[in-house]
Amino acid sequence: MKSERAKPRIVVTFGTRPEAIKMFPVVFALRETGLFDVRVVVTAQHRELLDSVLSLAGLIPDLDLDLMLPNQSLDGLASRILTRFGEALDSLRPDRVLVHGDTLTTMIASLACYFRRVPVGHVEAGLRSGDIYSPWPEEVNRKVTGVIADLHFAPTETAAAALRAENVAHSAIHVTGNTVIDALLHARNRLAADPALAPAIAPLKARFASRRIIAVTAHRRENFGAGMAGIAQALQQLAARDDVAIIYPLHPNPNVVKVMRPALAGYDNIALLDPLDYLDFVAMMDASEIVLTDSGGIQEEAPSLGKPVLVMRDTTERPEGIAAGTAQLVGTDPAAIIAEATRLLDRPEDYQAMARAHNPYGDGTASRRIAEIVAGAS
Ligand code: UDP
Repeated sequence: MKSERAKPRIVVTFGTRPEAIKMFPVVFALRETGLFDVRVVVTAQHRELLDSVLSLAGLIPDLDLDLMLPNQSLDGLASRILTRFGEALDSLRPDRVLVHGDTLTTMIASLACYFRRVPVGHVEAGLRSGDIYSPWPEEVNRKVTGVIADLHFAPTETAAAALRAENVAHSAIHVTGNTVIDALLHARNRLAADPALAPAIAPLKARFASRRIIAVTAHRRENFGAGMAGIAQALQQLAARDDVAIIYPLHPNPNVVKVMRPALAGYDNIALLDPLDYLDFVAMMDASEIVLTDSGGIQEEAPSLGKPVLVMRDTTERPEGIAAGTAQLVGTDPAAIIAEATRLLDRPEDYQAMARAHNPYGDGTASRRIAEIVAGAS
C-alpha cells in the first residue's frame, strides 16, 4: 500500500468494551510513531460499556456511529454496521483499517473495507475454538475477518499456527503478543500510583477482609438459559462457605440479569455489582483468590496476575492458559464448578500449581510491535 498523503491515514475501529480495552494501546502506539494520521471510528455496538473504557483511556473517537439499539438482533446490527461504517469509509478514505478480534463490528467493518479494496489489519488474529457455534457468533466473525485481512497480528504462536493451517501466507502473519497485556500493565501502573482509582473495590476489600474472594463474570450468549442457571446454583452453594466472598459485576444483558439478580440477592457474602470500570475490575482480579468466568479477555488477564481461572465454557479458543496450567475448563454444570472451586480453596498445593504467575499472552509490547509492522507495510 503506497499512500499519496503526507501520512497514511489509518482508521482504527471497534464497538465493544473488550475491543476498546485491547485497542486503546494500539491507538496510542500508532500515534506515538508520528508516522500516521490515526482516526478512531467507534460503532458503539455496546454503548455504556464502551464509553467507560473510552473515558478511562481519554480516547475521543473521531466518529461515533452510535449503532446500539435495545434488544438488537445480529442481522439488524450487522446491516447497520455495514451501511454506516461503509459511509464512514467513503468519507474518511483511509489507507488501512485496523479491526480487533471477533465482534460483529470486526467482521462487518472488514467486509465494508473489502467492498472498497481497503486493506485490513486484524489485531488478535487466529483464535479458533474449532466450533462455529461456540463461541457464537464470534468464531465465524474472526474466520471471515481472517479471509479478508492482509496483516494478521497473532497474539501467540498457537494462533499463528491456526492461520497457517488455513493457508494464510506466512509473511502476512506476525506474532505480537496480545495487546490486553499492554492494557493490563497500563491499568496496574495507574493503580499502583493511585489506589483511589478503584473506588468500587476498596470498600469491598475492607468488607471481605477475612474472606477469600472469588471474582465472577458471566455473559456468554451460548450460556444464556441453562448455563446461567447452573452458574447461579454453583455460586449459591459456594456462598454457603464461611470463608468465601463472591464479587460479581453483572453484565447488563437481560439474559444475565434476570437469572442472577433473584438467585444471588440477599447473601451477605455476595456483592452483585454493576459493570466495573476497567481499573476497578483489575483491582478486583488482583484482590481475588480465584477467577470464575466465561469471558475471553479475562482468561488472558487473570494468569498474568497469577490468579487461577476456572472457565465456565465447554470450549476455549484460548488454549494457552489451559496448556500453561493456569486455566481450566469447567463448563456450567454446578457440580463441576463447585468441585473445582472447592479443590482450589481446600488444597493449597493444587492452588499453588495453578497460581504461578505466567504470561502466555504477551509481555506488554504488542501494540508497539503492531505499530512498527503497520509502518513497514505503509
Ligand atoms: N471488564 C471490565 N469490567 C467488568 C467486566 C469486565 O472492565 O465489569 C473487562 C475485563 O477486564 C476484560 C474485558 O472487560 O478486559 C472482557 O470483556 P468481556 O468479558 O465483556 O468480553 P470478552 O473478553 O468475553 O469478549
